[in-house]
Amino acid sequence: MDGLTDARGQTRQIELKMDFLRGHQELAEANRRLLDEHGVTMIDIMGSVGTGKTSLVEQLARRLKETYRMLVLNGDLATSIDQERVLRHGVEAVQVNTGKECHLDAGLVRTVLEGLDLRQLDLVLVENVGNLICPADFPLGSHRRVVVISATEGPFVVLKHPHVFAEMDFVVINKIDLAPVMGIDIEQLAKDLKVVNPLVEVFRTSCRDGTGIQELIEELIEKTKRSPDTETTSGA
Ligand code: MG
Ligand code: ZN
Repeated sequence: MDGLTDARGQTRQIELKMDFLRGHQELAEANRRLLDEHGVTMIDIMGSVGTGKTSLVEQLARRLKETYRMLVLNGDLATSIDQERVLRHGVEAVQVNTGKECHLDAGLVRTVLEGLDLRQLDLVLVENVGNLICPADFPLGSHRRVVVISATEGPFVVLKHPHVFAEMDFVVINKIDLAPVMGIDIEQLAKDLKVVNPLVEVFRTSCRDGTGIQELIEELIEKTKRSPDTETTSGA
């Protein structure tokens, strides 16, 4: 193969990737319209395995279930462990197993939404597959996207994944109760986040003792319920 053929092949690959991502974007926009028609707010919760996404969802479920008719969509490669954790709080949950896929996408979410009576819902919390990197590239049609990181991920989690955080509106730093044990400076993590994304809203939580949860609910859930159409930097 000469250099020219290589270059053309590469261009074609890039075009295919663009078409692929555009397709997902259109599906996400359709999901968003469907949700808006029914007054349902959807939040996409992303983050690595073990940062406390499910614990956060449980905290939110416990405090919001009397206010909103809610449902949790749990994404995982396998098992229904997370779904069962949510169901224990008396909140509806749907488990989506992706097999080898390391993220949820708008098509999968669409399938779930079409199986629901959206007139009976106010709020859908999506717990994405545990993965810090690629879920950010797959908008689901949610009203807000949030990434959960934790004090157990080391001091460089933000600086090593700048593009993920550059696109996010909200970041939760969880397990702050473990920061002293882990030797992690939470304020340095927050500063790193502001460097990669000056607009990001940073929350500090401990799902173990409930620190910071109420503030997160006000900013992430209640404000979104009041004005769901606020443009997000992620275009979610
Ligand atoms: Mg989980
Ligand atoms: Zn993936």
